[in-house]
Amino acid sequence: MPRHENPSPGEKPGFVVRDGLLISIPDAPEDDLWYTREKIGNATLRVVYKISAENANSGVFIRIPVEPKSEDDAINKGIEVQIDNSGDDYHCTGVLYSMTKAMARPYKPVGEWNTLEITLRGLRTIVKLNGVLVTDYDGVSPVPPKTRQYEPDRGPRPESGYIAIQHHGGDATVTFKEISLLPEPARPAGALQDRAAAYLADLVRIDTTNPPGNESRVARYLKRVADENGIPAELLGPDPDRLNFVARIKGTGTARPLLLMAHSDVVPADRSQWSVDPFAATVKDGVLYGRGAEDIKSLLAAELAVTVELKRSRTRLARDVILLSEADEEAGSTAMSWLVANAWSSIDAEFGLNEFGWWQDQPSGERIYQVQTSEKVPTRVKLIAHGTAGHGSLPRDDNPVVHLARAVTRLVDAEQPVALNATTRAYFAEFARLPAYAWLAPLLPRLETPEAAAEVRRQDRELDAMLHTTVSPTTLEAGIKINVIPNVAQAQLDVRRLPTETAAEVYARLRKIVDDPAVTVENAGGQQLPATEPSSLTTPLYLAMQKVFEREHPKARTVPLLMRGATDGAFLRARGVAVYGVPLFAREGEPRWHANDERISLDNFRSGVDLLRKIVIAVACD
Ligand SMILES: [Zn+2]
Repeated sequence: MPRHENPSPGEKPGFVVRDGLLISIPDAPEDDLWYTREKIGNATLRVVYKISAENANSGVFIRIPVEPKSEDDAINKGIEVQIDNSGDDYHCTGVLYSMTKAMARPYKPVGEWNTLEITLRGLRTIVKLNGVLVTDYDGVSPVPPKTRQYEPDRGPRPESGYIAIQHHGGDATVTFKEISLLPEPARPAGALQDRAAAYLADLVRIDTTNPPGNESRVARYLKRVADENGIPAELLGPDPDRLNFVARIKGTGTARPLLLMAHSDVVPADRSQWSVDPFAATVKDGVLYGRGAEDIKSLLAAELAVTVELKRSRTRLARDVILLSEADEEAGSTAMSWLVANAWSSIDAEFGLNEFGWWQDQPSGERIYQVQTSEKVPTRVKLIAHGTAGHGSLPRDDNPVVHLARAVTRLVDAEQPVALNATTRAYFAEFARLPAYAWLAPLLPRLETPEAAAEVRRQDRELDAMLHTTVSPTTLEAGIKINVIPNVAQAQLDVRRLPTETAAEVYARLRKIVDDPAVTVENAGGQQLPATEPSSLTTPLYLAMQKVFEREHPKARTVPLLMRGATDGAFLRARGVAVYGVPLFAREGEPRWHANDERISLDNFRSGVDLLRKIVIAVACD
């Protein structure tokens, strides 16, 4: 956020922050807010503001070449994008103050929000107000001479510089709702993989931490790339801060569309636990660090680059290719549920590629491509034990802490039944053929017996979790004081149920295991995802992936995966779209989805981009 600089210490500051709004104070002396963390170039500054009167005066300084020490540094060495509806055509909102003439004066009435977009592209400065072009200055053409001390010095400016927001004084107020920075999309020159890598760095730098998300920033970035490449695209959604992006490249329509999807939000990053800034897209030793590098801006960047490539190369497509980037996958899936209910025709497809597949080389030389075709369903459970409160000096049989502890232990110790679906049957069969999993082969025919399941658990907990609904106690809550027996105790359990079971079946079974009238087993709420059949292993998309992988590696094996976690793909599967987690990238050591120092090597990323191009062409071309 900008560094506040009051020109004369002791004077009242020109701005206050109230209810999340930045407000300029009438009659306060001139004051600036400077942003000096980095120089800004090749970016769009988006400023959303309203004014209390036509003569309300403020401004955005850009291209300040040196770290400003006084307001004159901003006024004279920088350039001011003016906010003042009452000025003449050289001194009004959206012009470069005293230098350029307004091409339009598209002002909203006093009290309504205006959107000022200032694009710095090399030396060129483009200003749009409420979507209408006001200024387009190439940075070198002559401008009228400077006539007053407080006008910008004439002469060249750097491609990037510091920025500031001005409070001009006067008796009117300017209120700012948003001052945000969007990197300019990578220029379309260069090979597919170079462009994809540039998109990835840009996307990581757009902070879409959820909550609050602010995914519209990614949506607008994607829209800009689509617009520049002539790809029809729309921003959709009920919340202007959390828009979804949908673009479409038309095919001949002989087959139904292919959907490429990736969510636009990321989980929070605790900066103190990272070795680099999680939103700087730092590259060290060929590895790009940043929140979203794995989950899942890498996939989004690859999908964007391939979509642009299809358009630029005028590839003849049998089916439409739809690119979707949806908000809020990491918290409530509100965007995906909204899209399915309100914009189905925009995203309806025969099948789609989504997050959470990966490939990995085995010591025996096989390369295993794991394609996510099925997901477990989060089924959150709350246990509540009731009893009678009393003095800790007299033990009671109905102490709810004791009942709760027993219930938790019973649930964790109980065998949850084994059930297989088409995905897990194929997965276990494929793994049993690998030398490293030779122990699995004799268990295959009797996986559904408790003995075999126990052996799997001893050998490999990840495989075990694919066989059953799992139960993990995660929170406990009871008591206020060491000598007081409480009358209630609670626990929450993270239960991940197999998609072959209903929630009601799971709750009923857990109640039977707890078997204690003092303890209730309840739905703890949270994200509700549909349970669905696995995506088919015989669609043209699955078969195309298999073929591409086999061409890619002599010992390729394509294995369908039941994922322990959940994605937005479940909503589409519930509507009959076969969604696959596409294994574009190698798993590099421990996965760092949601972890500190999340990262991806650029070689891995680049080869994944090319793999995606091959898959899309194999399934979508005429
Ligand atoms: Zn994700």
